[in-house]
Amino acid sequence: MRDLVLRGRRVVTPRGIHAAAVHIAGGVIRAVTNWADVNAVHDIVDVDDAIIMPGLVDTHVHVNEPGRSDWEGFETATRAAAAGGVTTLLDMPLNSIPATTTVEAFDAKRRAADKHCWVNVGFIGGVVPGNAEEIRPLHVAGVRAFKCFLVPSGVDEFPSVSEDDLREALPVLAEIGAPLMVHAELPTLLADTSGRNPRCYATWLASRPDVCEVAAVELMVMLAEEYKARVHIVHLSTERSVRVLRDARRRGVAVSAETCPHYLTFSAEEIADGATSFKCAPPIRVANTREALWRALVAGDIDGIVSDHSPCPPELKGERSGNFFDAWGGISSLQLGLSAVWSGAQSRGVPVERIATWMSAAPARLAGLDKSKGRIEPGYDADIVVWDADSTIVVAPESLQHRHKVTPYMGRKLHGEVLATYVGGRVVYEKGRIVGAPGGKLLA
Ligand SMILES: [Zn+2]
Repeated sequence: MRDLVLRGRRVVTPRGIHAAAVHIAGGVIRAVTNWADVNAVHDIVDVDDAIIMPGLVDTHVHVNEPGRSDWEGFETATRAAAAGGVTTLLDMPLNSIPATTTVEAFDAKRRAADKHCWVNVGFIGGVVPGNAEEIRPLHVAGVRAFKCFLVPSGVDEFPSVSEDDLREALPVLAEIGAPLMVHAELPTLLADTSGRNPRCYATWLASRPDVCEVAAVELMVMLAEEYKARVHIVHLSTERSVRVLRDARRRGVAVSAETCPHYLTFSAEEIADGATSFKCAPPIRVANTREALWRALVAGDIDGIVSDHSPCPPELKGERSGNFFDAWGGISSLQLGLSAVWSGAQSRGVPVERIATWMSAAPARLAGLDKSKGRIEPGYDADIVVWDADSTIVVAPESLQHRHKVTPYMGRKLHGEVLATYVGGRVVYEKGRIVGAPGGKLLA
């Protein structure tokens, strides 16, 4: 039997980073052997000093199809994922029409995704006012987690929930053991900035102060504790929230958190007036906060890093007006996460292994995929990214597979270049090109 063997001097496994040969057969990692321990009969791909790492698992992607496929779509999103070393993504329940808040809507989404995905795709269901009775059927149908908003989401068909709505949903979620991903900002604590210049980034930042997030995280910790439910805070953006989470976890509350490459890369001080490609909620904060988020990751207080890729057409992103309050709030970055995070990690002396923990293992665990994905180990799926940690890229429109090219990373020099991406042992991206066929699996 001929295996595909990927071998190199820097393979990231649960034992650390070392020379090894990864044997792949039938879409699965069959063995991890010593570098030299490979029979010449196999198809051997030598990557030398490039990193061989578990493919990234991105549990926070807005694919927007069906219904807003002019914003993104399964084909373009999964091509961007492949080019960025993301081998599994979870699609958020909103911005598509219908939103994934019923089984019927979930069926429509699966039909839209079927046979159009270059990487594996799982799905997240929505918790909205009045749909508590849909949670169990959605879970049975294969939804891997749920998502809700405590503030308006930006789209009318995905309303935010109140504490009362959460008290209906959380007992069901606790019973089925599915995590609830929460956009944690409290609308009552948003600041009124009317009268100030809407083109100034400082105005946008001031309108959504830290306390909106901190109070929302405190509420979710209290409810997670009360209902013994699993709560996951998405796109954590402040240092004070980290402290609330750390204390809760010490008490045994099942809360986890993610942050995103943009909170780890940019800072409010450098965002020009009118630069609406940087708009997201919660907002990118000051440099001191960015450094605190890095420390929280290193300390293990934040579990993982995912993209929150949430694009839209350029005309909706405020390109003309530069008005932060009219522009769509969402950052396009699915293809760039690995390079963005590695750039930040490398400059702070953080080793490559931590990237695999934050961007592969932790999100796989959140999605309930930790028995099959997020590790290079025998029996795990052969979802692998090969990347060069020593080379640099400059983000340019022609290299992006996203449907729209607007991104705050445009023109930025980043460290780390994805060389090849394997999904189920088959190469889907190599030498700057998408190759093969859209053979990603639907994980539902
Ligand atoms: Zn999002």
